[in-house]
Amino acid sequence: MPKDDYIATIGLEVHVQLKTNSKMFCGCAVKFGAEPNTLTCPTCLGLPGALPVLNGGAIERTILVGQMLNCTTPEIVKWDRKSYFYPDMPKNYQISQFDLPLCVGGGVPLYDLAYPKEAQKNIANPGKSVELTRIHLEEDVAKSTHHSDFTTIDFNRAGTPLMEIVTEPDIDSADEAAAFLGSLRQILIYSGVSDADMEKGQMRCDVNISVRKKGTDELGTKIELKNLNSVSSVRKGIVCEIDRQIGVIDSGDKIIQATWRWNDELGITTLMRTKENADDYRYLPDPDLLPVRTANLVAKVQAILPELPHQKVARFEEDFQITHYDASVLASDGALADFYETAAKGAKSPKKVANWVINNLLGELKERELEIGDCPIAAEKIGSLLDLVEGGTISNNQAKEVFVELFESPDSEPAEIAKAKGFEPADSSEVDGFIDQAIAANPGPAGEVAEGNDKAANFLTGQVMKLSRGKANPKQVTEAILAKLRA
Ligand code: ZN
Ligand code: MN
Repeated sequence: MPKDDYIATIGLEVHVQLKTNSKMFCGCAVKFGAEPNTLTCPTCLGLPGALPVLNGGAIERTILVGQMLNCTTPEIVKWDRKSYFYPDMPKNYQISQFDLPLCVGGGVPLYDLAYPKEAQKNIANPGKSVELTRIHLEEDVAKSTHHSDFTTIDFNRAGTPLMEIVTEPDIDSADEAAAFLGSLRQILIYSGVSDADMEKGQMRCDVNISVRKKGTDELGTKIELKNLNSVSSVRKGIVCEIDRQIGVIDSGDKIIQATWRWNDELGITTLMRTKENADDYRYLPDPDLLPVRTANLVAKVQAILPELPHQKVARFEEDFQITHYDASVLASDGALADFYETAAKGAKSPKKVANWVINNLLGELKERELEIGDCPIAAEKIGSLLDLVEGGTISNNQAKEVFVELFESPDSEPAEIAKAKGFEPADSSEVDGFIDQAIAANPGPAGEVAEGNDKAANFLTGQVMKLSRGKANPKQVTEAILAKLRA
């Protein structure tokens, strides 16, 4: 059967490390890159008799994310022991949440710009939101590193607060999975709870995938895919696994429920272990930790709920009259959005400021290998630079020169630089003379303008700009030409 006759169903489980100073159940510091096994205590080493203490900040941050994603928080939540045996977890259970997690339901809106570039032009389900099952809070395990014939374990990571976000089987394609991770990351960065960088292991993702023939309702047998540590490997792993499963079914075989591993070097999935039954983790309420009433925490978090990226996009479109695309680019990064907003506030043309930030500023920063947060030019100065253009004091090309100069001396004012460069507004009677000159020299186009041809007006404006050596304000010139020829 052709591939189009199959439907893929995908669900994700995403683990996100929270930015907290201390661990989930003890006071040890959370720090990346410290000397191995220096950030430990009896609790996070899992020594017998050591007692856990809840990290209130981690609980609040998780509820905050839940509120941003429209989840509900049960009135009472609790922690449970998830039993399993592995060297990275010496107490033989992980403290996690079973039936009363911090957040239930909710969804993640998929942002257009979070789709892979080539998929953005043809989005299958525009405006889709991926439904969430739950978000719970647990502890990370230690990090084991496998050497040639031995394994080392670093307990610095053990006990780091870990938020687990579980989706419904609501994702249809590899592109949607990528959009989910990108959108979720944007929201997490906006919330300030995590940098959610997959390459740094701050966000880790497992994927459940099944395929079924079109026209059937029952979901196919699912395969769990592990070892995906970048958005691109999530995409490639899903594409590869969908193809493999269709091949198995087409050849008349059955999919066996199992965990597979993505091999990024070879670009294939390989069998890790089969699962005859669902894992039995023997969950039981952790007797060392009291359940928590959440009402006060939810109220506290609601008072500090940040604006979401799509809410910012809508506000930018409305307040600054810029396009949805420009607003989306600007809002895709919190620091960039703040920069733009400061620059555009009070500017004569917020639209011009948006164009300048997206086309000129981002390009220049990229060339200098700078992040927007390191931009030497204050946002307000970009606003006043473009006010000079909008007000007709300098031309767009002159603004580019002032802009480059601003990078070198960011303490100067754009108007000072323009003046020092001799960029004075063209004398209006002089420009008037140029207009008459251009009309006289181009009777053909002038006649067309009189008959209503706007392109011909642009041509004449271009001639006047040349005569004035770029000093005239093109908008005003066009208006003057139309006034003269269509009076
Ligand atoms: Zn500790
Ligand atoms: Mn987990």
